Amino acid sequence: MVTTNQHVKRTAGESEAVELNPVFVRAGEATSLPKFRLPEAESLPETAYQIVHDEAMLDGNARQNLATFVGTWMDDQAQRLYLETADKNIIDKDEYPQTAAIETRCWTMLAHLWHAPDPDHTIGTSTIGSSEACMLGGLALKRRWQNARRAAGEPTDKPNLVMSSAVQVCWEKFCNYWDVEPRFVPISEDHKVLDGHDLESYVDQNTIGVVAIMGVTYTGMYEPVAQIAAALDKIQADTGLDIKIHVDGASGAMIAPFVQPKLTWDFALDRVVSINTSGHKYGLVYPGIGWVVWRDRAALPEDLIFHVSYLGGDMPTFALNFSRPGAQVLLQYYLFLRLGHEGYRRVQEAARDVAIYLSGEIAAMPALELWNDGSDIPVFAWRLRAGHTTNWTLYDLSDRLRMSGWLVPAYPMPDDLSNLTVQRIVVRNGFSRDLADAFLADLKAAVAYLDALDGPIPATRQHPGFHH
Ligand SMILES: *Cc1c(COP(=O)(O)O)cnc(C)c1O
Repeated sequence: MVTTNQHVKRTAGESEAVELNPVFVRAGEATSLPKFRLPEAESLPETAYQIVHDEAMLDGNARQNLATFVGTWMDDQAQRLYLETADKNIIDKDEYPQTAAIETRCWTMLAHLWHAPDPDHTIGTSTIGSSEACMLGGLALKRRWQNARRAAGEPTDKPNLVMSSAVQVCWEKFCNYWDVEPRFVPISEDHKVLDGHDLESYVDQNTIGVVAIMGVTYTGMYEPVAQIAAALDKIQADTGLDIKIHVDGASGAMIAPFVQPKLTWDFALDRVVSINTSGHKYGLVYPGIGWVVWRDRAALPEDLIFHVSYLGGDMPTFALNFSRPGAQVLLQYYLFLRLGHEGYRRVQEAARDVAIYLSGEIAAMPALELWNDGSDIPVFAWRLRAGHTTNWTLYDLSDRLRMSGWLVPAYPMPDDLSNLTVQRIVVRNGFSRDLADAFLADLKAAVAYLDALDGPIPATRQHPGFHH
């Protein structure tokens, strides 16, 4: 992310130097180091380590972070593997052929998990996360559309992509960076997710595809992919337009196969041509890994593929990056072996059970009203019950919870519900029933405190934008 030093790095009155704790300073060493300039001289490794270690500690307590989807814990064997393999560069297929082979095993497993008709003849890749994976999925949709239009002698200058107004920001980036018109279908109280309703008024001959989200970031709800596919079937029958679906399964593609095995959302639907997931969300790996798989080779146009040499042979690659850590791929493989289908089921169901327990308790609180209950992905959101109070808002509740260490963001919903504020909890592996009870106690205390106020909390500050 581009940051500016005005906004993020410096705070008013902040010193320009890192002061060293005298305990760690060795004879002859500097006692402070500049923060924003490359230091003149060297430091001892122990000293530099201590500075970075101490600063990183300020980042907060991951266990009480109920805002993030991303993994913050792996077991000792994974930590060991991580250290052992931190030097591997994923693009050096020739130098690290085994890592490359393992990458292929991983996405082939995903192709099978997601019901590709012929998993051994699919194509896929690891990425740095779902954002890159979505870019690749979107680019394949765009190129397929361009190729078909060119073949038909039609213009290719006005591609559009149809999706919910509640998409993750990576889809807005995709459209911005690759000159595709985003067509947002607004969510509403009646249509809480993209559900195929009125789709015919959004798609046309310039539509490169429709994005369906398995686990909307704002709320955790699944979009009914089968229903969206059925709406597109009808559109094809009426107009001849054959519009494909990319499923953004950043979270849900690693939940649904284990928790809702009967739900039809994946390659079992002919219209679904590609699916992405974040290995670092419910794939349970540390940050830096995503996956995208196409239903078959035909779904990924050949002219997007580059070839790198691999064991003297040839390895197709499709990626935005060149160098990237290979270790995360090995960690994903470790977890696939370690947990298997049964292990992932147990882990994800545990998270789902905690989410449903928590949402049930929150539903019983007079101040709050659930938007959804966490039975899709283990994520749910609530709003302030209409008419409950004008003294406080969910932003105040979020602030209050922060005082006991909990990060539970409040934010506005997207169009057409942007006047509605919700608050969301992401239940991840490790958020136990015990922690949930500790959180509930703090939540109830915070609400009781706010409810006891005899006047409104002054709106003293702009609420920081929460990023999805
Ligand atoms: C998190 C998320 C993304 C972006 O994933 P990263 O792995 O963080 O890049 C995209 N889409 C959805 C639905 C998400 O929840």
